[in-house]
Amino acid sequence: MKHRLARRMLAWILGISAVAALVATSIQLFFDYRRDLSELEQGMHYIEQNQLPGLSDAAWNFNIPSMQLQLEGIGRSPWVAGVSLRYGPRQAAELTTGQIATDSHHLYTYELHRNDAVVGKIYIYPNLDVLYRRTIDRFVVVLSTQIGKSLITTISIFLLMTWLITRPLTQMAAFAQAFQPGQNFRPFRLRRRETSSPDELTVLVDALNDAYQRIQKAHEFEVQHAEILSREVAERTRELSAAHQELARLSVTDKLTGILNRLGLDETLQSAITTAKKEQRALSLIITDIDHFKQVNDQHGHLTGDQLLQEFARILQQTIPATAVLGRWGGEEFLIICPDSNPEQTRLLAEQLRSAVEGHIFPVVGHKTSSFGVASLTESDSSNDLLRHADNALYEAKRGGRNRVALAKQSGNMHAENTKDQVLS
Ligand code: GH3
Ligand code: MG
Ligand code: MG
Repeated sequence: MKHRLARRMLAWILGISAVAALVATSIQLFFDYRRDLSELEQGMHYIEQNQLPGLSDAAWNFNIPSMQLQLEGIGRSPWVAGVSLRYGPRQAAELTTGQIATDSHHLYTYELHRNDAVVGKIYIYPNLDVLYRRTIDRFVVVLSTQIGKSLITTISIFLLMTWLITRPLTQMAAFAQAFQPGQNFRPFRLRRRETSSPDELTVLVDALNDAYQRIQKAHEFEVQHAEILSREVAERTRELSAAHQELARLSVTDKLTGILNRLGLDETLQSAITTAKKEQRALSLIITDIDHFKQVNDQHGHLTGDQLLQEFARILQQTIPATAVLGRWGGEEFLIICPDSNPEQTRLLAEQLRSAVEGHIFPVVGHKTSSFGVASLTESDSSNDLLRHADNALYEAKRGGRNRVALAKQSGNMHAENTKDQVLS
């Protein structure tokens, strides 16, 4: 993983320089070989020009020792491997020196002339080994030099590339990986000696810092925005919840008197009955209706009737205990739910209420009375049953002359629909 780019480059440079070294070596060797070959030709020319005339004289004179001596002189040339000289009539006699390769194709043949007559023939076998050995030696030297040069160049490039490019890139990658929007942002700085003039890396670093700074700003903006949004959502939720609560309160509140309305009373009664039955506790109900209320409207107007209703509700609210719940059942009828209250206790409370109303002087109207019906929950009663019993008792109170409390006489068997409630008071 480390310096992979530089390593890949190293492999490429090595491959390219090896090919280049081979090509350069081959070209150089080709020219060297050609030069050696021409040196060989020159050597032969030298022999022809300078040594063959003396040999021709010796052959003419049949001076064999001289011929042998001169032949050996020719044979000492580094370019000559062996020499063969044919002389005498029809060149039948032969003198040789050095190595005679009978199968050699590289053969230099010269005729020896004297006084316009051919006095001999000389066959010179060139020393091609020297040529080949020189070529091979040169090949080894040139190739190893080229390889050495290539290696040094390649390693230098690798080190420079690692130092100048790969290392800064690795630092940038580490910075990018460590970057976390929202964390304290510190611009990236290259760990290298300051260059006098900006280069490509400086431009890259500036661009990198610029980009990450923008990401950071965008993130901060997003966070701020999210905060504002969540604050607003919380605010709206609070408002909505308050409005919802207010709506819920209003839905169970009687607008005129501010006490529970019929819906609120229904709900409260249902839950009070459920609790009472579950926990085997007493529950009683008072229903009250203002006597001759219609007259108030008729004599003093609807508004005075409304004010009387408000005043009446206030008297009831002030008189009932905290555990009791008051509500307007409809028109000038009110209901009081009395948990943990037996028939007698409830009757006493109703009596207290009746007397409070009777003793009160209402504005405009003066004295006003109200009738009360009281009923208590039995095991088998539904809310409708209980209400019916209380209503029946109220009816009895009205029938009995108004301004009084009537207690429903409830038998144990409340299932019988036609059970007749009996008035006690
Ligand atoms: P009783 O003694 O038999 O109860 O006689 P009553 O006149 O009180 O009874 P009735 O049912 O005949 O009259 C009730 C009146 O209450 C009729 C109606 O106009 C009046 N009423 C009902 N709701 C309101 C209200 O919200 N405001 C006013 N001002 N009057 C109301
Ligand atoms: Mg009425
Ligand atoms: Mg009435």
